[in-house]
Amino acid sequence: PDEIPADFDAARAEAERLTADIERYRLAYYSEATSLVSDAEYDALIHRLEAVEQAFPELAGQDSPTQQVGAAIVSAGFPEHEHAERMLSLDNVFSIDEFREWAEKTRLAAGRPVRWLSELKIDGLAISLAYRDGELETATTRGDGRVGEDITENVDLIPVIPRRLEGEGIPEFFEARGEVFLTSEDFEALNARQHQLQAEFAREQAARGRSEDQIPVRYPEFANARNTAAGSLRQRAEKKTAAELALMRDRLGRLSLYVHGIGAWSHPAFENQSDAYRLLDAWGLPVSPHSRVFDSIDEVVAFIEDRGEHRHDVEHEIDGIVVKVDELELHAELGETSRAPRWAIAYKYPPEEVHTRLLDIRVGV
Ligand code: NAD
Repeated sequence: PDEIPADFDAARAEAERLTADIERYRLAYYSEATSLVSDAEYDALIHRLEAVEQAFPELAGQDSPTQQVGAAIVSAGFPEHEHAERMLSLDNVFSIDEFREWAEKTRLAAGRPVRWLSELKIDGLAISLAYRDGELETATTRGDGRVGEDITENVDLIPVIPRRLEGEGIPEFFEARGEVFLTSEDFEALNARQHQLQAEFAREQAARGRSEDQIPVRYPEFANARNTAAGSLRQRAEKKTAAELALMRDRLGRLSLYVHGIGAWSHPAFENQSDAYRLLDAWGLPVSPHSRVFDSIDEVVAFIEDRGEHRHDVEHEIDGIVVKVDELELHAELGETSRAPRWAIAYKYPPEEVHTRLLDIRVGV
C-alpha cells in the first residue's frame, strides 16, 4: 500500500478525496440500492481513510464516514422512525490473524471465559421489528442508526415477517434486529421473470414494427441479491399501475428474514444472545439454522474456514462470518464505539473474482 503522507495538508487533501468518493458510493448503496464499485473496493477506501485518520487523528471528525452507521436517509417517501435503541454496524477484520488478535483482546477485556456465538454474515439489509404486546408495531430500516425509514406498510406483503407473535413470556415491548435478504433461488427466479417480461415486451414492440436495436430494456437483469432485496423492500405502492403493483407484490413476497440481534427489550429474562434466539424462534420469528456457540477461539477459526470452503452450499449469499460474545452482561461491560459494538466482529471473506467474472459475462450476453 502507498505510504501515508507525512505532511498534514497532503493528508487532509487525501482524506477529503477519499471522503467525497465514499459519500457518493454510500448514497448510491443505501438510498438507491446500487453499487458503483465492488464491496472490496469500497472496504479498501474505508481502510485507507482509517489509516490516514490514525496518522492524523484531528482528521477523524464525527462526520467522517469511518465514524458513522450507514448514511442519512434520502427519502423514498416513507415516514421516519426513531429506533428505541440505536442500530449499529460492525467492525471488520480481513484475515484470521486479525480475527485472533481481536478475540484475544476481547477475552482479556472480558476478564472471564467467553463463549463465542458464530453466525453467517448474510448479505442483505438490516431491519428492526418493534413488537408491542406481541403485535408488530413498526418495521424500520437501519438508516443512520438512530432514525430509519418506517416501512411497516410493505411488511403486510412479506409473509415471513409475523404481524403477531404467539407463545409464553412475550415482553410488553421489544425490538428484534435482523437481515432481510433474497435466497439465491428467489434471486434467480426474479431474474427469470425479468427475462420473460423483457421477451414479451420485445415481441410486442416488434409486432409494432420496431427493429431489434430500437427496443429499450424495460426489465433489466438484477445485478445482485443484496441490492435487489434492498430495492424491493423500499418500493412505494404509490402511483403504481395494477401491473406494477403485482410485480411489487411478487418481489416483496419473495423476501426472507433471519433475526440476528435484539435492541430495546423490557425486562430480558435470559443470559445469552443465543437464549434470546431460542425465544424469538419459539414465538415465530425466523432464526438462522447456521449459528453455533463455541468455547474456544480455535473452534471459531475452524468454523470460519469450513464455512468459507462451503459458502455456496448455503441458501443465501454470505460475505463473511459474524462472531459475537454470547453473554449479554458482557455486552454491557464491553460497550460500543460510535458505530459498532466492541463485543462483535465481522470477518469478511476475500472477494470471489472468478465468480464475478462469470457473472459479468452472463450479464453481457
Ligand atoms: P457491514 O455490512 O460490514 O456489517 C454490519 C451489518 O451486517 C449489520 O448492520 C447487519 O445488517 C449485517 N449482518 C448480516 N448478518 C449478520 C449477523 N449474523 N449478525 C449481525 N449482523 C449481521 O456494515 P454496513 O455498515 O451495513 O455496511 C458497510 C458494508 O456495506 C461495506 O463493508 C460494504 O461491504 C458494503 N457497502 C458497499 C458499497 C458499494 O458501493 N459497493 C457502498 C456502501 C457499503
